[in-house]
Amino acid sequence: MKDVPAVNVDRGKIPFGERIYLGPILGGLRVTLRHFLRNVFGQRDVATIEYPEVKRQYSERLRGRHILTTNEQGEVRCVACYMCETACPADCITIVAEEDPTAAVDHEKRPLSFEIDLLRCVYCGYCVDACPKQAIIMSREHEMAFTTREEAVVGIDELRQKGPIDQEDLGYRPYF
Ligand code: SF4
Ligand code: SF4
Repeated sequence: MKDVPAVNVDRGKIPFGERIYLGPILGGLRVTLRHFLRNVFGQRDVATIEYPEVKRQYSERLRGRHILTTNEQGEVRCVACYMCETACPADCITIVAEEDPTAAVDHEKRPLSFEIDLLRCVYCGYCVDACPKQAIIMSREHEMAFTTREEAVVGIDELRQKGPIDQEDLGYRPYF
């Protein structure tokens, strides 16, 4: 390896303010103070908002918490094909399939259990893309908090679509 020549710095030639880092510190404080005064005295172009009282309008393609969609009879559309589980890069979907006694010609299974670990999920939407039945979509819900690991593992009951979904709440969906 090539030797890098040492550089001798004559500290005596460096101004005192720079030696004790006074210049950069005062420069940083000046920037902070400038932003503080702009925020306090109400300039309209500030980047921050008063969350959570004020919220941004998020895109219809936001990848938020998942929804398992239901058909006219209120049953989940999922046919337990494992496509989403296979496509998931975070390995956070766990499905157990069972035979569907009411099976139509286009499917013969339904999920006995369908769980997503929301703490492992990276909200990539691959599961939504992989689903051939539009049985899993994403909402715009992204404010989630859990106090235990178990709480973050949600099943069919928590994921199932509950009535008509407000357009405002819909996030990433296939073909959208
Ligand atoms: S959004 Fe991505 S990480 Fe989350 S469950 Fe779907 S495929 Fe897995
Ligand atoms: S949600 Fe879609 S991709 Fe996943 S198992 Fe059900 S039908 Fe298959």
